[in-house]
Amino acid sequence: MAERSDCIFCRIVAGEIPADVVHEDEHTVAFRDLDPKAPVHVLVIPRRHIASISDAADTDAAVMGALLLAARDVAAVEGVAEGGYRLVVNTGAAANQTVHHVHVHVMGGRDMRWPPG
Ligand code: 5GP
Ligand code: ZN
Repeated sequence: MAERSDCIFCRIVAGEIPADVVHEDEHTVAFRDLDPKAPVHVLVIPRRHIASISDAADTDAAVMGALLLAARDVAAVEGVAEGGYRLVVNTGAAANQTVHHVHVHVMGGRDMRWPPG
């Protein structure tokens, strides 16, 4: 799906809303969360609008794989790969997904609890 003017993350991809971008590639853009919940808190998103994991099609395999590989690279560049980090993809209402454009939270720099709340 093309950019959606009502989607805040599509507008970040389009450069219409500023963001602290830390990584970009063919399929993804990664930028710091506006309201970080860990010393490292970066969001990795597909350039193309996909509302949630549940809305991904089988033909989105390349972009969905690129999200995880970009998250790997972000963790390395941000210096949390060695100590460990958490990837979170909130999906749907019960998980409190608030932005309906797929995003992988890359969180690190502190100890993570299990299970998450
Ligand atoms: P969700 O709750 O949907 O998994 O996470 C959405 C995340 O997007 C939140 O952590 C929130 O702080 C972040 N966020 C929402 N709007 C913006 C924005 O305009 N810029 C940035 N950098 N992060 C945002
Ligand atoms: Zn979007």
